[in-house]
Amino acid sequence: MYDNVNPFEEVKKQINIVREKADIDSTVADQLKHPRQIITVSIPIKMDNDDLKIFTGYRVQYNMWRGPYKGGIRYHPSVELDEVKALAAWMTFKTSVVDIPYGGAKGGIVCDPKTMSCTELERLTRRYTSMIMDVIGPFKDVPAPDVGTDSQTMAWIMDTYSSIKGYSIPEIVTGKPINLGGSQGREGATGLSVAICARIAANKIGLKLSGARVAVQGYGKVGYATAKSLNEMGCKIIALSDTKGCIVNQKGIDPQKAKEFKNKTGSIYGLEGCNKIPLNDLLEIDCDILVPAALENSITENNCDKIKAKIISEGANGPTTPKADETLFEKGVFVVPDVLANAGGVTVSYFEWVQNLNRDRWSLAEVNKRLEERMINSFEEVHAFSEQMNASMRTAAYVLALKRLEEAHLKLGLFP
Ligand code: GLU
Repeated sequence: MYDNVNPFEEVKKQINIVREKADIDSTVADQLKHPRQIITVSIPIKMDNDDLKIFTGYRVQYNMWRGPYKGGIRYHPSVELDEVKALAAWMTFKTSVVDIPYGGAKGGIVCDPKTMSCTELERLTRRYTSMIMDVIGPFKDVPAPDVGTDSQTMAWIMDTYSSIKGYSIPEIVTGKPINLGGSQGREGATGLSVAICARIAANKIGLKLSGARVAVQGYGKVGYATAKSLNEMGCKIIALSDTKGCIVNQKGIDPQKAKEFKNKTGSIYGLEGCNKIPLNDLLEIDCDILVPAALENSITENNCDKIKAKIISEGANGPTTPKADETLFEKGVFVVPDVLANAGGVTVSYFEWVQNLNRDRWSLAEVNKRLEERMINSFEEVHAFSEQMNASMRTAAYVLALKRLEEAHLKLGLFP
């Protein structure tokens, strides 16, 4: 983990900041510093060479005041429980910021999907699903893709769950392949919302989007979709990075070409016509819009002073620590926080679930229209709060989220 920052400690700090500023009921704030339920499983898998390997998996069900648990499943070697807890907490705030009727959850398996075969990943996914079977469900907890998982992973989960239950249950997961009930637009939804937020932010500060220089950290599903969407809006992608390195081209990088190059070689590093620069320099590059789309804690007190971007739209979950966020706010950088900027993913997941429950199909135009509308409304709500409180967009987003959670809890009351 970057700089050894524990993301769950950062979540609790963030709740404290907001609780003071917005006078949140202390019993509500206290409960929101604790996940409701944690499931840890040891998953035995026969590897292709016949060896048995035991993987650790988690599902953290954080909060369900506003609806069923909802959140992705991450496959990554650095997955750890406090990280999954933080990610589950962020899902709780994210679904509240964009006002969709879900709570928050997250899952993870400590593994390196890049070094595993497709059959190993299938066995791992199916066994994990069977082990968390009792706690998930279409009205209980609805998983989705995250780092290291995709629509194929969701298809295996759907099939395992449906096979055990004895009938087809597409609404058990979102982010499925389209012909299995996946929604149009789900794959690019997270990136599209990051781009929409950058566009609205540009408008607020009077930055012309056409020709605006963009740097993207991390070139996975979200990094690529954001670069593509921003490019279509007229921006120029001048720098990209992934785990291997960082590339720069002031004349502009074609997001599609970069993706094809990465598919072929495993990295964007070495793309024709681009200069190679040290990995960590990406965040400090002279650009207008910076998109952190890698893992948590990449923008900290140690590097936030060096950031030159005017706008940061967060594709990753938790890329900026609360302290760094404060400094960036004082410096006048317009930061659109993760719980707003990347909420397009879970928003279209919600659309997918609604379509599944109604046995319905919406067109791409319909999905994108609804997404656009919800992102604009949520952005404006958060922005109004931030102006009113003279606080960062992150603090404002948390205030909005916590206020909605507080209202839900105070109406529900405490059982028993
Ligand atoms: N993993 C994504 C996120 O962090 C999507 C979650 C979902 O669609 O449920 O927001």
